[in-house]
Order: sequence, then structure tokens, then C-alpha cells
Amino acid sequence: MTSILLRGRTLSFERWPQTIDDHSAWRYEEDGGVLIGDDRIVAAGAYADVEKQAGEAVRKIDHRPHLLLPGFIDAHAHFPQMQVIASYGAELLDWLNTYTFPEEKKFANAQHGRRIARLFLDEMVRHGTTTVVAYCSVHKASAEAFFAESHDRNMLNIAGKVMMDRNAPEGVLDTPQSGYDDTKALIKEWHGKGRQLYAITPRFAITSSPQQMEMAGALCREHPDLHMQTHLSENHAEIAFTQQLYPWSRDYTDVYEHYGLLGKKSLFGHCIHLSEREADALSNSGSVAVFCPTSNLFLGSGLFDYQRYRKRDKALRIAAATDVGGGTNYSMLRTMDEGYKVIALNGEKLNPFQSFWQITRGNAEALSAVERIGTLNEGTDADVVVLDANATPAMRLRMETVETLAQELFLLLTLGDDRAVREVYVAGRAAKTDMIAV
Ligand SMILES: [Zn+2]
Repeated sequence: MTSILLRGRTLSFERWPQTIDDHSAWRYEEDGGVLIGDDRIVAAGAYADVEKQAGEAVRKIDHRPHLLLPGFIDAHAHFPQMQVIASYGAELLDWLNTYTFPEEKKFANAQHGRRIARLFLDEMVRHGTTTVVAYCSVHKASAEAFFAESHDRNMLNIAGKVMMDRNAPEGVLDTPQSGYDDTKALIKEWHGKGRQLYAITPRFAITSSPQQMEMAGALCREHPDLHMQTHLSENHAEIAFTQQLYPWSRDYTDVYEHYGLLGKKSLFGHCIHLSEREADALSNSGSVAVFCPTSNLFLGSGLFDYQRYRKRDKALRIAAATDVGGGTNYSMLRTMDEGYKVIALNGEKLNPFQSFWQITRGNAEALSAVERIGTLNEGTDADVVVLDANATPAMRLRMETVETLAQELFLLLTLGDDRAVREVYVAGRAAKTDMIAV
């Protein structure tokens, strides 16, 4: 067994931090250690204690004075949209038709898919994200490209080929049968191979016919352990069009409910304009609402009411995500900075411990994966990010007046980006260094 011992200031969450002083919600060690054996965390805690458990042959890596946290988790992104990000001037449906669908056509070409998958996962690692829940294009080859690249890096990623059979141009359409067959074949080949996990991925109600929605429901019934991901209630024109296409439905959520797509492993991107009935339906089924602040602001979709959803009697499970390329940044730090502002516009605040909980343990819980990722707990996969709050001249200057961990974390959220990410360990391997070396 190869083992390494990381030293630095370690921070990992036990549960949701109620307030900025809720110290028992997290474990923080000023001089902390993380002992990694092969790809797992063997021990974490005070450095002096952890060091005693390390054998003679351990390789010691000193990251002091930097922070060591669990790797970030991005719960919703579109890997084929790297050349869509930063497209000007449209709302959701126009943005899809004008920029996104034409771009996704290119992913029929396996070589293109492999190139973009490589560059996409490079960006994830560069920004400290060790797990991403990704939409591929409609093409089976795009999912194969993504999983092959992810498997090579030994990353725990969750992805699926999108199913879409209408209201989009030729070249990005499947059929109910081919969407089902391709999904089945991909599950068989990739789900559970190494760290790869498959997500059944009907793009959204507008681009799937009722027949395809039936097929998506069948896939969920046949594979109840798999994730399901789609989009819900992002903008008003989308909601109105969905009601036209499914005139029998009580509301947008009812469409997914009808086809059996709600559940504990179901991830719904956006969920901005939900009625109380819809929020109840998501909550009752344990479904997850995915908050994508940079995307919601960029496309002018609306303000996700994070605190209302969290504090209501039937609370929603919430994840946070970039939603690249509707989102405007690959960084979960930038994402939570914009998230803070969206929540502020709703008259609430998210304290920095809550923000870091969300992009680590919180997202892992939302993905039902906290036994494996999202903490520095013993026995979990060794995905670790090393953060430097002095990464830029402006950060260094501001750090001169920072006195507490909470202030430092808030500075990282407000001014931090990929430059603050000094190293990233993926299953115990120094992935950022490796990437730069290649
Ligand atoms: Zn999306």
C-alpha cells in the first residue's frame, strides 16, 4: 500500500452549521493531518495523532499554512457546453436553440467528445472539483468519451447521455427506443466500473415526448439505485410551454411525477418558480433541488429561494452546481459567491460555513454519496482540495485584517477562484500537479 500523509489546517463538516458559532458542526484542526492509504482516507485529525498511525514508508507532504478540505462537488454541469459558455443575449429556450443544440451536434464525433471531456475534467480539477454530475450530449459516444476520461483519472463522477426526441434540431435527437437502448448499454458498460456512476438523463419535459418519458420512467424502475437528472421550473416561457405539451398536468413537477421520476436519487436542476404543491411533492419524495446561481443570473431565469426551501415545514434537499455552460464559471467558490448574492436578494444570508458545507458534505448528502465523498472521514475516498487564502495580491492584502476562520472562508468565497486551489487529490493522487506536468 502506498500511503501519504498530508499536513495542513483541516476542515470537514459533520452536519449543517446552524450559525457561525455552531462549532460542533465541523471538525477543524489548526495543525491537522490526513493519512491516505492507496485511494482512501485512513485517518484524519490532529497531526500528532495521525502521524503516529503512519508507517515508516509514508510520504509526507506539508501543505501548511493552507487549508485541506474534502474535494468540491458540482451537482449539475453540461460537459459539451465548454464552447457555449459566454454566449450573449438570450433566455433559456433561445439560448438552447441558438447556441447549445448546434454545439452539441458536434458530439456525434467521438474524437471531439474525448477532447472536450479531457479539457472539461481538467477544468474541474483546476477548480478543486473532484466530483461532477454531468450531462453529456444525446450521442452515446459523448457519454463513452466522458466516462473513459473520468475512469482514466479515477474520479468519482456521475453522468448520463441526454434523452431528447423532440423540439430540437436533427442531429441532437434520439427516439424513445434508441434513447432507452443506448442508456441500457451505457449503464451496463459504465455504472459501477471503477468509480463511475450512471445517471438516467431525460433533458427536460419539453424535449422528451410522452413515449420517451415513459421509457425514462421504465429505466428508473429497472435501476432504482441509479441517479436520475433533469431540469425543472427554470424560466416562465419554459413552464408555459411545458403546460402546453402536457395539458393534463397540474403543474410542471406533476409531469415528472406522472412518469415516476421523483425520488431520493432524482436531481432537478433549477426549481426556481415552484408552487407550494410542487415543493411538497419534491420534499415528500426526497427529490433534490439543484441551485445553479451563476446560470440563473446569467440567463435571467430568477432567484432560487434557498432559505425558504430549506426552512419550510417540508424542507427540500438542496444541492449546488455550476450549470456550465448556462453557468458562467467552473468554480464552486465563484458559484457560492453568486449564491450568496441570490440569497441576499431574497432577504437572507448564507454564512461561510454553510457555503462550504454545501459544496462538500451538503452536496454529497444530496447525492446520497456521503459514505464515499464530501468529508475527510476515515474510510472515505481520498478526494481533497488544498486552498490558499493568500493566492493573489488582493487576497493577501485583505488577509492582513482577517482574524477568524469564518472570515478567511468568506474571503475565499468572495475573492477566490482556481488560483486559490493549490492542489487537488483525486483518490489519493495529486491530480493538479499531474495535470500541469503533462
Ligand atoms: Zn442544465
